[in-house]
Amino acid sequence: MMYSPEQQKKLYALSKEYLEKGEVGGVDMQQQIEQLRELINYHEWRYYVLNDPVISDYEYDVLYKQLAAHEAEYPDLKTPDSPTQRVSSDLTQEFETVTHLVPMLSLDNSYNAGDLVKFDEQVRKLTAREKIEYVVEPKFDGGSIALLYDHDKLVRAATRGNGERGEDITPNARTIKTLPLRAAFKKFGFQTVELRGEAVIRKDIFLQINEEREEQGLTLLANPRNSAAGGLRTKDPSETAKRSIEAFIFQFGYGIDNSGKNHLDSLQNHYDALQMLSRLGFKIPAGQMKRCKTIDEVIDFCNEWEGKRETFPYEIDGMVIKVNDFALQEMCGTTSHHPRWAIAYKFKAKQATTKLLHVEYQVGKVGSVTPVAKVQPVQLAGVTVSSISLHNEDFIKNKDLRIGDTVLIERAGDVIPYIVKSMDDLRTGEEIPINFPNHCPVCHTPLVRHEDEAAWRCPNMQCAAQVKQRMIFHVSKDAMDIDGFGHKLVERFYELGWLKNIADIYRLDYEKVAALEGFGEKSAENLKKSVEAAKHQPIQRLLSSLSIHHLGKRASKLIAEKVAHVLDLRDWKLDDFLDIKDIGPVVAENVIDFFAVPENIRMLEEMESLGVNLKQAEEDKPQEVSADAPLAGMTILFTGTLQQMGRKAAQKLAEEAGAKNISAVSGNLDILVVGEKAGSKLTKAQKLGTVRILSEQEFLDIVNSA
Ligand SMILES: [Zn+2]
Repeated sequence: MMYSPEQQKKLYALSKEYLEKGEVGGVDMQQQIEQLRELINYHEWRYYVLNDPVISDYEYDVLYKQLAAHEAEYPDLKTPDSPTQRVSSDLTQEFETVTHLVPMLSLDNSYNAGDLVKFDEQVRKLTAREKIEYVVEPKFDGGSIALLYDHDKLVRAATRGNGERGEDITPNARTIKTLPLRAAFKKFGFQTVELRGEAVIRKDIFLQINEEREEQGLTLLANPRNSAAGGLRTKDPSETAKRSIEAFIFQFGYGIDNSGKNHLDSLQNHYDALQMLSRLGFKIPAGQMKRCKTIDEVIDFCNEWEGKRETFPYEIDGMVIKVNDFALQEMCGTTSHHPRWAIAYKFKAKQATTKLLHVEYQVGKVGSVTPVAKVQPVQLAGVTVSSISLHNEDFIKNKDLRIGDTVLIERAGDVIPYIVKSMDDLRTGEEIPINFPNHCPVCHTPLVRHEDEAAWRCPNMQCAAQVKQRMIFHVSKDAMDIDGFGHKLVERFYELGWLKNIADIYRLDYEKVAALEGFGEKSAENLKKSVEAAKHQPIQRLLSSLSIHHLGKRASKLIAEKVAHVLDLRDWKLDDFLDIKDIGPVVAENVIDFFAVPENIRMLEEMESLGVNLKQAEEDKPQEVSADAPLAGMTILFTGTLQQMGRKAAQKLAEEAGAKNISAVSGNLDILVVGEKAGSKLTKAQKLGTVRILSEQEFLDIVNSA
């Protein structure tokens, strides 16, 4: 299924009309129902297939409930292909599909205590019980997975798909470290089991991934949910692995014993089933789930979590309430759409509307110009929001944002405020289109845009904004890690004219620093100590601290490993870079360009003369030993207590003399160096008769002879 841009625009506008008015004038009920179905299909496609929704989950639910309400009122207009009659789908042509052993239904949603009370009434009626025990657990916001274990081994992992059938993502799931590839189900009498869970990314790791993607010039991931769901469905398992996905298991869906009989009953209830999974090595929401005796207790627990969702390391968008007892679950049964023994309690949408006042343009360390919307300060899930990144020009165009617009904002992924849309029917006609500048707002150089990049960039390396941002990055934790030297200090010294480029950081006059307001001898001394310490950072850090476009930490490390001195890179040709696995032509060209600029070379030379390390540390460099080294090609082993030096130092000496340290006495051993109280190794070497045995002094004499 594909939609053209025109179709998408129409469907989006129509969705807004339904969301704002609840109906569309001039069409009859049948047409309204058909339109709502089309909209829901479209939004499901954006959500499940593209992982890129254009409306919030809450808005989707509003549309869905409108349709469900109409269908309830006019049952003869209900059709089997209505989205309300099936579960939604993320199936594409790209993966093999597999059939789940038990269909993965979605959950019915509730939004308030009243909904939960009704749910409880229905459960008690269906089971004819006075009291029901519920288990309440967080509703993780990620990508759903179904795992099949057979004879204790993980044999298949699949996405939820359309609920009946999902996509086979086994190789990707195998990279998820929290999923045991083997689990001792047989010990509990199970032969084949199917488990359900949610693949998620921790919020802090999500932010890290985006920082790295930004460094590499890749498009940023929208939020942890999309990153996890998208990560499960990449074609390249190593990409899944990079995202540090974890999986929480929250459901034991199916389990048979070796005679093919249902064995799930042996566990009796959901809570015990999860405890068993935890013992088998699965990650369950152990500290976050609770058994509740009454619906009031359930409501209290949901409220408690709504209050602390922000501080929880994972994204959750609600709680799930399940009848604990398996037999009672059975009595409740399911509809075609959802189980009757469980319900989701959705937290309040973290949305607000505010006014877009103006747009500022920030120039980053590699010159990327980022538009930032200044909005009327507004409270959003407990935080005051006044600036929101607009990412790039396309974002502004696609959302048709204008100055003066009322905009709907959301804390996407609990982390970053995000503009969902502008409310264009609230426009007065006074709104001003946002014209992306074509010149750098700081140095006025014409901006350039690379065809496969989203950002406009200021190409002037000497641009004051870039110079400052590069220095701010240089001193930061991610680069040279100069303790106590934050962006405020860089700005201050820059304004004072003390910092013109990175080299100046290493020739500060600390007497002048001490005389500054807010400083003193002591703090100037501390700053000096930090700067001095940074001079000894390994060259991989130095390389990545230079803000060369696309040259991140990893690429810096790979390149640093291959050079003895940073300035050797002046002589590197494209092929030298491409010989390194994982270094691509774009990074290579950027590094070549950087080292072709005389000013950059001069800056690095100055840094070296100021004491900054530009040389490869000895231990990082692979040893190159000449053939006439005294122990060239020999294997060596030390035993007993050495008198003149430690074991490590001796091994290093041996290596420098061309020997290879090995750990056992065997036919492969050439030399055994014997310290005091040598034991079985000496006896064994003597027995072999082929090993040359040296005292510590004899060893030192040979090594020092070179
Ligand atoms: Zn500029």
